[in-house]
Amino acid sequence: MRDPQVPSALDCMHCGFCQQVCPTYLATGDENESPRGRLFLMRAVEENRLKLDDAVAAHLDHCLDCRACETACPSGVEYGRVLEPFRIRQRAQRPDDAGAASRGLSGYVQRQILPDRARTRRWLAPARAAQRVGLGKLAGALRLPKLLPRGLRRLTEQLPPPPPKLEPLPERIVASSADAPRVALFLGCAGESFTPQTNRAVAAVLQALGCTIEIPQEQGCCGALAYHEGRAEDASAAWRALARQFGGEDAPQHLITTAAGCGSMLHDLPRVAEELQVDEDTVLRLGRRAIDFHAFAAKLDWPNHLQAIPLRVAYDPACHLVHAQRVRDEPLALLASVPGLECVPYEEAELCCGAAGSYVLSQPELSDQIGERKARHLIASGAQAVLTANVGCALQIQRCLRKLGHPLPVFHPAEVLAAALGVGELRVAGQVYGREAR
Ligand code: SF4
Ligand code: SF4
Repeated sequence: MRDPQVPSALDCMHCGFCQQVCPTYLATGDENESPRGRLFLMRAVEENRLKLDDAVAAHLDHCLDCRACETACPSGVEYGRVLEPFRIRQRAQRPDDAGAASRGLSGYVQRQILPDRARTRRWLAPARAAQRVGLGKLAGALRLPKLLPRGLRRLTEQLPPPPPKLEPLPERIVASSADAPRVALFLGCAGESFTPQTNRAVAAVLQALGCTIEIPQEQGCCGALAYHEGRAEDASAAWRALARQFGGEDAPQHLITTAAGCGSMLHDLPRVAEELQVDEDTVLRLGRRAIDFHAFAAKLDWPNHLQAIPLRVAYDPACHLVHAQRVRDEPLALLASVPGLECVPYEEAELCCGAAGSYVLSQPELSDQIGERKARHLIASGAQAVLTANVGCALQIQRCLRKLGHPLPVFHPAEVLAAALGVGELRVAGQVYGREAR
């Protein structure tokens, strides 16, 4: 593996600007739980000045890899480029000690269930059935979930209200104009399993804006869960499979991602794959074609008149959108074009929600603490709904809002845009906006 980490870590001038954006430092006040502290620990381990014992490993495992420290750093330290290769190297050197994230049922869920949509659906089926007939509330009242193993309990706690029954997306949605932009749509594993309405809203918006959309029916995982856990071989296998599924001579130029976590993995792929020496052309090309839905949609021509959506919403800028992909303004600009929609400000808006992929399973206590901090700010904003562009964040925010007794609805911005275009609907507090409101 090529090693880009030492030069970037050496750029740290210990100014501490990153401390105040780091959720684990804010939660604990411990220097070892801060970006600066972790950079110090990783360098010391790499230079054999420090043993990677359980205490040191725990400080590093607690990092959400939210990369808020990167955009805050005046010295340009690319923290993710230090942490991620470090995790892979440690995993290769100590294969039997895979870290907290990989142990027990939580590890099984991350490795075997979540990256596979069909398996996730099968695992969720009993919980979904119980939700639909109202047994979920009864089981909750009887405290039955407490009897489940922890990993499974966390997964069921994350379940949002059941989505409407939806038809599978077709293989191709053809625009009426022959010179329409052609795009491919990446569905993601968790997104399609937990919030399938997001991909339908994205497809509806792109279709309404005149795109032809290719949706390969066999499409796998982006490899992010494996990569962030240091399982380089599993991640590489996922990228090669995706390159086959989305490749080919006639592949559309743009590969649209709808979840910030998957988008960030694919966006970083040219660099990451090269570092791991998975530098086949097909894999590198896959990464170069990936573009976030908002970044792409902001470049299209929009109709002059959109339907009014008179709602106060709080927008959560998902870390892997704003810090990793640097897509900050486009979602806000798109939402600002919707008449009547008000994006309300709130405290610490760019602080991570504590979901961070599998973190919610592997670090439940810290994840709860960070998530509830975010949820309190969202509640205080007075918003009627929350918008976020990452499935993990949506589930985490919903769970924390429910836990605090304020079950605000959470949507992907594409759902609002689809409603404003009249090709989707939004239901908030008994009111329907969009398609059915016309
Ligand atoms: S902001 Fe950058 S330079 Fe300053 S302590 Fe953090 S990582 Fe180091
Ligand atoms: S990636 Fe996030 S959690 Fe990790 S050190 Fe940086 S700011 Fe803190």
